[in-house]
Amino acid sequence: MQDEYIHHGEAVPSEESSAMTAQIEKELSEYAASDELADDIAWLKNDYECQGVIPPSDKALMEEATAAHRAWISRRLECEANGHQFTEYADGENGRGTLDCDHCGYSYSYQW
Ligand SMILES: [Zn+2]
Repeated sequence: MQDEYIHHGEAVPSEESSAMTAQIEKELSEYAASDELADDIAWLKNDYECQGVIPPSDKALMEEATAAHRAWISRRLECEANGHQFTEYADGENGRGTLDCDHCGYSYSYQW
């Protein structure tokens, strides 16, 4: 069986273990097949428009959303490996949620 990984141009940090990389690739492929990616692309597009900027192409938005999601998975796994806990905050008004690490203060915002 051949494994084909999609790379998005960003370098893989050297401290990332291969198990962690495999987990990231697994979660990224799930993300790519989910509605979450489409929602994130729509959110990014809207965010650009709100800033008065013409959004880049859908392909570029997809790459941006995927890179952001990849960074998040990598960060989350690292936090989990160090025993950090994430607290979830829901922002019902904007339909966004936030996950905050209680240790590093790392914050991830997502559509729900
Ligand atoms: Zn942390």
